[in-house]
Amino acid sequence: MAADGTSKDILVIGAGIVGTCAALELALRGHRVTLMDRRLPGLETSYGNAGVIQREAVEPYAMPRSLRFLLAAALGRTPDVHYHVAGLLAAWPQLWQYWRASAPHRHRQASGDYAALIAHATSEHQRMLDLAGANALVQRQGLRLVYRSAGLLDEALKDAARIEREYGIAFRAMDGAQLQAAEPGFRIPLAGAVHWLDSWSVSDPSLVVERYARLFTALGGRFVLGNAGSLRQAGAGWQADTVEGRVEASQAVVALGPWAGPFTRRLGYRLPLFVKRGYHRHYVNGATVAVPTLDAERGYVMSAQKKGLRITTGAEIADIDATPTPRQLALAEAAAAGLLALGEPVESTPWLGSRPCVADMKPIIGKAGRHDGLWFNFGHGHQGFTLGPASARLLADLIDGGTPYTDAAGYAPGRFG
Ligand SMILES: Cc1cc2nc3c(=O)[nH]c(=O)nc-3n(C[C@H](O)[C@H](O)[C@H](O)COP(=O)(O)OP(=O)(O)OC[C@H]3O[C@@H](n4cnc5c(N)ncnc54)[C@H](O)[C@@H]3O)c2cc1C
Repeated sequence: MAADGTSKDILVIGAGIVGTCAALELALRGHRVTLMDRRLPGLETSYGNAGVIQREAVEPYAMPRSLRFLLAAALGRTPDVHYHVAGLLAAWPQLWQYWRASAPHRHRQASGDYAALIAHATSEHQRMLDLAGANALVQRQGLRLVYRSAGLLDEALKDAARIEREYGIAFRAMDGAQLQAAEPGFRIPLAGAVHWLDSWSVSDPSLVVERYARLFTALGGRFVLGNAGSLRQAGAGWQADTVEGRVEASQAVVALGPWAGPFTRRLGYRLPLFVKRGYHRHYVNGATVAVPTLDAERGYVMSAQKKGLRITTGAEIADIDATPTPRQLALAEAAAAGLLALGEPVESTPWLGSRPCVADMKPIIGKAGRHDGLWFNFGHGHQGFTLGPASARLLADLIDGGTPYTDAAGYAPGRFG
């Protein structure tokens, strides 16, 4: 309900975790909400992620600026990042802004905004999980970053201690023996781990979105199939064509994740958006991990999912529609197979998705500057699954016109002019 006590007709476009949570939050507040997507909810990026609710990710993922990393990336020798030359050239202006935003003083500023929002990641998911009856999909066992070399573990532990001091995020330092006892499936000795204790994970991210969407429709919300390209201004409001006919609303929310770039450009917005692609594959009949695990020196995550052990890769800079090149997945598979009995792959073709990224590393949440009744909620990068519910609450506060529950200025679309 808006601050003046009225309810609104709102059309949310895009039913990933971000759009579905926004639609649910708005419906919970008494608005009449239609959620539109070209597919059923939760089948794109929100399907294929590692499923970690990253309460520890108080500092957004900066572009590594060390010469060692840049050289390794240029030579294709780091598993963290892979690039297509065409994708690199096309995204060059955004990547340059990302590089600048990653300078230590700018990154510190961005981290202040990011930490304030991510502080609500687990509590806002919890509220929705309770209402959706979906707690069985969640594990509250943290996220483990494992290290192979003592030197890098030492550096990581120092950084973890700083994060704990500055942001109050709890972690446990593990040596090699403790890690081996916690993960008996590991067949080579590792140096140890940083175990972040406040992070959660889910066994099926897509199913979580589906459950939130089901709650949304149970509350009276309407889900319809339709193409975002049909959205247009009509009088004082918005219209779109769906398989069930025309939908009209006074407000429209764009939650198109990695497809927000071309869509908002068509409406006249110049936002520094780009994508970091990533792959996954599941494995069965092998070992698994007790806790989601980032093999920090090899740049991939393993997490236990309903379909098997899921391996997700780091960033590939490429056009969203470019031919898949799952080189990082092949490297990750080889590294994981050295660490544990990997089992048999489930999919013959790996899944490919795209993290929706913004050059300053923060999502874009708030009122669009050029159109009345248009709102943005996209660009959640590496932590969209984490931030879906917390962003939804912020967006709904802004639409309702009250004081936002956390500072909105750092997320405003207007920060790009
Ligand atoms: C490999 C990998 C691992 C990740 N791991 C994690 C993790 O562990 N934790 C975490 O928090 N985040 C993680 N992420 C990031 C996270 O998955 C994303 O930030 C998040 O899913 C983005 O959600 P979204 O709703 O914005 O986008 P999406 O889920 O992509 O939703 C966008 C929706 O828009 C719809 N759409 C697009 N075009 C149109 C159109 N023309 N008409 C109608 N509908 C349209 C799509 O069908 C889609 O449903 C990971 C990402 C990747 C790739």
